[in-house]
Amino acid sequence: MADASGLRLVALKCSKCGSLLKAEPNDHVFYCNNCGTGFELINEKDELVAVNIDFALPVKKQDAEIVYLPFWVFDTNIQISSRDGSQTLGSAAGFIKNVFSGGEGSKPVTKFYVPAFDTPITNIRTLGMEFTKNQPELENIKKDKLTGCRFSSGDAEKLADFIFLSMEAEKPDMLKSITYSLGLSSPRAIGIPFYKTGGSLVDGILGIAIS
Ligand SMILES: [Zn+2]
Repeated sequence: MADASGLRLVALKCSKCGSLLKAEPNDHVFYCNNCGTGFELINEKDELVAVNIDFALPVKKQDAEIVYLPFWVFDTNIQISSRDGSQTLGSAAGFIKNVFSGGEGSKPVTKFYVPAFDTPITNIRTLGMEFTKNQPELENIKKDKLTGCRFSSGDAEKLADFIFLSMEAEKPDMLKSITYSLGLSSPRAIGIPFYKTGGSLVDGILGIAIS
């Protein structure tokens, strides 16, 4: 149905167990706190599509209140077909290493992280870059709620491009142009624990502070 403002209204009910889904305005992802099923609202179709939602256990313990903030995680298969910097990167082997890892000595990038909560774009870039570079081993659990996912998985794919280009631009060869594909697949949402400390939030996985 359409209301007076022309907005479409969707019944937010879990299709698995029938419970009402908790939501905030502008949410794109809904988590059933009764059965643990996750849904993404596909705006073009006004449809709730099942999506996996997990929550990561904090690895850095702090005595502070925890909030779980949503990220999109994709499997990624990054292919760079051309890359042109002002300075050459050296050997072909060095080039390949630069392509497939976040940096010197880091793990291969097989998962791409995109923060999806309401926060300035600089935080999205920093957190997206650091989580994607670090490829943290997350221990997943089921929790009671996840709200505040402001981006659809489609939006998150566009943000992944922005994060990837930021990572490449930080490499020391002064990137001028690049042709690539991120090969993103299997989007799922994950609640990353953040500690509320003073006026800022510190994530419980890598310990990055944002404000
Ligand atoms: Zn349910």
